[in-house]
Amino acid sequence: MCGIVGYIGHREAYPIILKGLKRLEYRGYDSAGIALYDGCDIKLSKTKGKVVDLEDKLLKEIPTVGSLGIGHTRWATHGVPNDVNSHPHYSNSGNLVIIHNGIIENYESLKTELKNRGYSFKSDTDTEVLINLIEDVMKNDNLKLGKAVQIALNQVVGAYAIAVFDKNKPNEIVVAKLGSPLAIGIGDDEFFIASDASPFIEYTKNAIYLEDEEMAIVRRGKDLKIRKIKDDSLVDPYIQELQINLEQIEKGGYDHFMLKEIYEQPSAIKDTYRGRMLVNEAIIKLAGVEDNMKKFLNADRIIIVACGTSWHAGLVAEYIFEDLARIPVEVEYASEFRYRNPVINEKDLVIAISQSGETADTLAAIKLAKSKGAFVFGVCNVVGSSIARETNAGAYTHAGPEIGVASTKAFTTQITILTLIALRLARAKGTISSSDFRLYLMELEMIPEKVIKALESEEHIKKIAEIYKTTRNFLYLGRGYNFPVALEGALKLKEISYIHAEGYPAAEMKHGPIALIDENMPIAVIATKKGHYEKVVSNIQEIKSRKGKIIGIVTEGDVSVRELADHVIEVPETLEALSPLLTTIPLQLLSYHIAVMLGKNVDQPRNLAKSVTVE
Ligand code: GLU
Repeated sequence: MCGIVGYIGHREAYPIILKGLKRLEYRGYDSAGIALYDGCDIKLSKTKGKVVDLEDKLLKEIPTVGSLGIGHTRWATHGVPNDVNSHPHYSNSGNLVIIHNGIIENYESLKTELKNRGYSFKSDTDTEVLINLIEDVMKNDNLKLGKAVQIALNQVVGAYAIAVFDKNKPNEIVVAKLGSPLAIGIGDDEFFIASDASPFIEYTKNAIYLEDEEMAIVRRGKDLKIRKIKDDSLVDPYIQELQINLEQIEKGGYDHFMLKEIYEQPSAIKDTYRGRMLVNEAIIKLAGVEDNMKKFLNADRIIIVACGTSWHAGLVAEYIFEDLARIPVEVEYASEFRYRNPVINEKDLVIAISQSGETADTLAAIKLAKSKGAFVFGVCNVVGSSIARETNAGAYTHAGPEIGVASTKAFTTQITILTLIALRLARAKGTISSSDFRLYLMELEMIPEKVIKALESEEHIKKIAEIYKTTRNFLYLGRGYNFPVALEGALKLKEISYIHAEGYPAAEMKHGPIALIDENMPIAVIATKKGHYEKVVSNIQEIKSRKGKIIGIVTEGDVSVRELADHVIEVPETLEALSPLLTTIPLQLLSYHIAVMLGKNVDQPRNLAKSVTVE
């Protein structure tokens, strides 16, 4: 997965592409490169490392002139991150240059054929194979670039968002998409190309999101034409007006995107339920659910497919759906689900959860479920994303762009929307009384204020982070609704501080992890008043007897845990089903501060990328 940017128009391309790459670094950041057409030739500079490293190198290597260019920030799939494997890649003649997000799965057989025809390869990438395939088609059949790209792509198996240009036709860029996202910004006599709209949001609000198997030739001063790659038919361009603004994608005074996003949770949660939950009228309105109510009510069971943090949100949802709506739920890792032979049919309803809406395994799981006749409902944050388009219906979380690689507001807004769905179904099925329904709505409406209250513990949490920042291991325990929160707390710490952490259901501790506990083991235990409180307090006693260091996440005013624990962090009281929205906050802050104190790159942790568009 990677970020791609391109520009063709009347402005200098370099600053637009450079800034765009910086905004897209959340998609991958192991190498970066830019190719510009300077009026006579292609000037290309690329390097292993981040976009700032490219900036230093590029300024020494090439002139930054020209009103046509393409840029790439990489997350390697084929070939280690190094200068040579970085994009853009030239074709053998040096006439063509490409950037690519995705994987060409049949690149090896194509490479062998091309080698037999005399082509040579500098890099280990699949991308260099594709650009030479395009060149080969162009030469053999004496074709223009657009046609050659189309014919070449029809020979390719895999996923791509590509941008290609030819130095002999420097008035156009050819773009195409299958499986990886590609947006085209439309300005006055200028076009912007990018993996999402953030690189061009200050220049234009008009954008087209290419659909799978579509390609376009963007020509200076000409109208845009979109075609189907398979049959060359013309597609009517659907121009969307973008709703995001620049402030939303910048850090807004916070040191890191992750911290900004943690603090955005009160407003993000509100944005998720705004207009959908009418507390006074005691109504929940979700178009995607209303329109398909029969499917929901007739479903024998719900299968949730997701990866990572979204999978944890799915686990919370399992408790809520079963508890409130009395519908059996199974939660599956999308990557496992797609490769086994799941028993699934038209009586199943699948909910697919993904922040980016581009998660490759989740997309594949959706396709599998659909092929077996199941109805698939998507929960995504990114509007117009692949999953949003691939599902039968869905609901957006409306959390705003999440840039920090470690998910925070995506998690709480996913839980919020899933709670709304469960409540709506419970009402429709009559498994919740009208007074309880009203109580849930009132409590949910108060959650943003309570999140603000929970965030007030930050200074106290910093002190706890200072004490445990050098630990090598961490345990997280919770029960019921807060068991998935324990998993999520552990994941956050692993992701950004590289400290080994594990989450467990508190009662499972006795079946293994208790052996790890000694005076050096910190254990975060979620012990809120509602939800098996006494049982968790007993678990805390067991830890205490083995000298483990206890950090209790407790309800305001708690006394019992305070007596036993080394530290307590209070969160406001709420209904048990809504407690994950509060208990997760201190765990996010704890991992954030430990990572900052350890000097880690919080927003771009090693080996990770924001949106996992490869399996
Ligand atoms: N498969 C290409 C490579 O490894 C592109 C990966 C990406 O999407 O960044 O270079």
